[in-house]
Amino acid sequence: MQKFKKLQQNPHTPLTKLPFLLYNIKWFSSFIDTDVSGKDRKNPMDKKISEIFGAMVFNDDVMRERLPKEVYKSLTKTIATGRTIDPSIADVVANAMKDWAVEKGATHYTHWFQPLTGVTAEKHDAFISPVGSCKVVMEFSGKELIRGESDASSFPSGGLRATFEARGYTAWDPASYAFVKDGTLYIPTAFCSYTGEALDSKTPLLRSMDALNTQALRILRLFGDDQTKHVDITVGAEQEYFIIDKKMYDRRKDLVYTGRTLFGAPAPKGQELEDHYFGPLKTRIAAFMSDLDKALWTMGINAKTKHNEAAPAQHELAPIYATVNIAVDQNLLTMEYMKKIAEKHGLVCLLHEKPYAGVNGSGKHNNWSLTANGKNLLDPGKTPEENVQFLLILAAIIKAVDDYQDLLRISVAFPGNDHRLGAHEAPPAIVSVFVGEELESLIDSIVAGTAYKGAKKAMMDLGIPSVPVFRKDTTDRNRTSPFAFTGNKFEFRMLGSSQNIAMPNTVLNTAVAESFRQFADQLEGTKNIDTAIAKLIKETFAAHKRIIFDGNGYSEDWEQEAAARGLSNLRTSVDAYKTFMNPKNVSLFSSMGVMSETEMHSREEIYFENYCKIVNIEAQTMVVMASRDYIPAAERYVAQIADSAAKKKMVCEDVSCAVEKDLIRRLSNHLSEAYSAVERLKKEEKTAAAILDVKNRAEYYSYKVIPLMNELRSAVDSMEIITASDLWPVPTYGDMMFRV
Ligand code: ADP
Ligand code: MG
Repeated sequence: MQKFKKLQQNPHTPLTKLPFLLYNIKWFSSFIDTDVSGKDRKNPMDKKISEIFGAMVFNDDVMRERLPKEVYKSLTKTIATGRTIDPSIADVVANAMKDWAVEKGATHYTHWFQPLTGVTAEKHDAFISPVGSCKVVMEFSGKELIRGESDASSFPSGGLRATFEARGYTAWDPASYAFVKDGTLYIPTAFCSYTGEALDSKTPLLRSMDALNTQALRILRLFGDDQTKHVDITVGAEQEYFIIDKKMYDRRKDLVYTGRTLFGAPAPKGQELEDHYFGPLKTRIAAFMSDLDKALWTMGINAKTKHNEAAPAQHELAPIYATVNIAVDQNLLTMEYMKKIAEKHGLVCLLHEKPYAGVNGSGKHNNWSLTANGKNLLDPGKTPEENVQFLLILAAIIKAVDDYQDLLRISVAFPGNDHRLGAHEAPPAIVSVFVGEELESLIDSIVAGTAYKGAKKAMMDLGIPSVPVFRKDTTDRNRTSPFAFTGNKFEFRMLGSSQNIAMPNTVLNTAVAESFRQFADQLEGTKNIDTAIAKLIKETFAAHKRIIFDGNGYSEDWEQEAAARGLSNLRTSVDAYKTFMNPKNVSLFSSMGVMSETEMHSREEIYFENYCKIVNIEAQTMVVMASRDYIPAAERYVAQIADSAAKKKMVCEDVSCAVEKDLIRRLSNHLSEAYSAVERLKKEEKTAAAILDVKNRAEYYSYKVIPLMNELRSAVDSMEIITASDLWPVPTYGDMMFRV
């Protein structure tokens, strides 16, 4: 780690500077030669990881090697200072990129961007340019590298751009490396409208990085640090996912259309034995994971940890952290590769937050920290009570989370995540901060003005002579907390597995920047700075202590206590969205230059729109499945039972048909319930779709349509458990989760 930290020292700013991915790569490959498994080594077909790592990335090493010295220098300087690139250099860079990409098998290039759909977008253009009437050459100009023009009319813009004003621009983000994938050179870009408004998730993120850097530097200066030129935001996103056999997946319309099962009675076994978490990997899964690792390493992504998760067929992948904008790009690529490589193994990767009811859903833990000059600013050191800079930063973060609970909640709010948050498996919808016993007692003593005794450094002795005695962590973990301090970073745990992590990080960066700004405004120029800082730390902890909660976030008591503390509890996405345009939120984003009020309006509209669309697709899928698959299947079974009862009577008049009668009665009842729910659902769905105001429409879906969906599911699931297996038209929960 020490080596890694040292390598992060180069100063850089977000939009323009070389990301430290390149340092990651160097650090990683410096020891990776020895890290390949023996099995791979023996197979000459398997290349060493150091040979494949980052092989498809146009990184700093490649630039240095491929660009004329002056151009390389000028480019890195341009990148470091944030100035516009010299067009003559752009041509040279573009040409080198093209030559390199063509050697890697590329025939096309694309401006890769992150529209507000939540997924990435790309349009491929061939490098070819005609020469004469029957020849072509491969060409790529600086202009094509720097700016792309795309018809933006089919991407969500939330009213920012009418369909007739179709022009949208993509602008090269040199801070994220270009790469080659499937025969195309990918150029990471930001996406904006003709009038310059951000139409993507990346632009506000880059702006938030800039804002946080500016304000964090002001804080460091207060502590006499004149050296640090840049504060880097680091993020490591742990990604959870489910795997299912492709043949089963194809037979489930709900998975195909919505990514989650909308029906399904629980399997006899769930996750209660806790035998899946960290369990040995099945051969097929291990083969998939191994291919995935290799693909990610080729793309310069530091895939590091993989293991089975809590639910059957659930797994996790964690990369080594990177600068936040790189981490965002890499997480999007990781999700894409997970899906693609699963297919090659006859599997499907489910990234939905809640593919199956009754077992854990999937989240994404967003580990977040700040680094300056290679030093982690969230490292409390051995004596946090003496580390004033750490305490001030900690106070700023706690204040930020308290002040912007609603924005943090919104940044993880969408229908898929509504099934997880507060469902006793994931953090509740209430935002709170876990700091651990040691820091909490320190904070308590600061607020009370009493002497801090310090944490006992307990040793762990297992009583086995051959096992070394080691020092215990001073705090245990708290898995139920939405925002937990984990030693030298905060772990924001409310994110859903399918989401782009850009927005949660944008909110976090901006909110912390705002705390820093207020602190710096108050402290700069103060005569007795030490006393002023101490006073501010105490006041801030006292004012925001209500957000600190170390207990069980899943308990009902906490809901009541949180209400008594005045914390917000935005249970559903729709409840959360309604707070987005609160004046304090508008003022935060606009004053920090992260999003204008107009840009926020567009996002608000998209939040509500997306919500309606997703619930609408789910409701329609349920109607189709119930009417055309489940009801006919149950009817067939009823007919079969009736037939068999009649035949029994023919053979033996006095035989009892009590079982048949009971089954027919019960199935008929459930059939009526299901049929009635389908009819009402169709009606309510029509009513919802006709509501013009998008907020009212979303509310209608949330309060009227979803309860009917639940009703329909319950009727169908009740039929499933009493219908003959061979007649049930789709794979069951047991099939899907245990037969991978
Ligand atoms: P766990 O949460 O299981 O204890 P780890 O300590 O291994 O996991 O870390 C989980 C994630 O946190 C990894 O992606 C790791 O790279 C990331 N991480 C570690 N240190 C930092 C940091 N300073 N900033 C951001 N992410 C970090
Ligand atoms: Mg974790």
